[in-house]
Amino acid sequence: MENCLQLQDKVILISGGSRGIGKAIAQTLAELGAKVIITYTGVSESSKQNAENTIAEIKNKNGTAIALPLDVTNEEQCKKIIKEIIDKYGEIYGLVNNAGISIDQLSLRYKEDDWDKVVNTNLKGAFLLSKSALRYLIKQKEGSSVVNISSIVGLTGNPGQIAYTSSKAGLLGMTKTLALELSSRKVRVNAIAPGFIETDMTDSLSDEQQEKLKKDIPLGRVGKVAEIAWTCAFLLSPRSSYITKECITVAGGM
Ligand code: NAP
Repeated sequence: MENCLQLQDKVILISGGSRGIGKAIAQTLAELGAKVIITYTGVSESSKQNAENTIAEIKNKNGTAIALPLDVTNEEQCKKIIKEIIDKYGEIYGLVNNAGISIDQLSLRYKEDDWDKVVNTNLKGAFLLSKSALRYLIKQKEGSSVVNISSIVGLTGNPGQIAYTSSKAGLLGMTKTLALELSSRKVRVNAIAPGFIETDMTDSLSDEQQEKLKKDIPLGRVGKVAEIAWTCAFLLSPRSSYITKECITVAGGM
């Protein structure tokens, strides 16, 4: 069963895979035998340490993983990390555009600078990293796969999240265009729209906000990072070979 998703030895890059959803994706892919590359920004004191801890946990379970520094908003760094991966492994099979940030405020008070930070990371960053990886992804004769981590609020909107919802909706448009542009080269491009998932990003919400959110979830609970990770593993897997240009919502029925 370990090989049921046929990801053994596949080289897969996960932007921001040092914690949260990205970490769970990295762990799941490594358990399935993939060669995983995660990234860290180094902006906070814990950033590099988180990445090192993730790599150590994966290696303890006999997985293959490395961590490299990356700021997805910087095109030179995006090109450099892809080059490093090609130099080390000779190929790349999969890309997960997971890196994301959220700065929340009502639109009337939203600062231009915060808009730029959020949209540049969540939307432009996914474009720059995809663009850098594409010339190698198209070389995979049996096909390759890109998964963009969007959000349910990119589909529904959410008061107080003007830049975040706009960036996540934009990511869905990007998913569709890339899927259409690359289908003839056997690169599949899909998105996941997670609902309310337990991570550092959602920990910052107050208890009251969290309780209110849970009431809107038909399954009556927040999601687990592993539930996003398994969906991502399926979309990366050759087992989903006839799925492209799709968005799977993983949100407990929201
Ligand atoms: P998280 O715990 O806050 O982790 C965010 C990750 O993104 C970190 O690894 C961080 O790296 C990285 N990152 C931030 N800015 C970056 C940049 N400029 N360049 C490269 N990496 C950068 O977030 P999460 O909750 O796991 O969310 C992961 C993805 O899922 C995001 O795209 C988020 O929008 C989406 N999502 C989350 C939820 C949820 O409920 N949690 C719901 C829907 C969608 P460092 O730690 O090294 O800085």
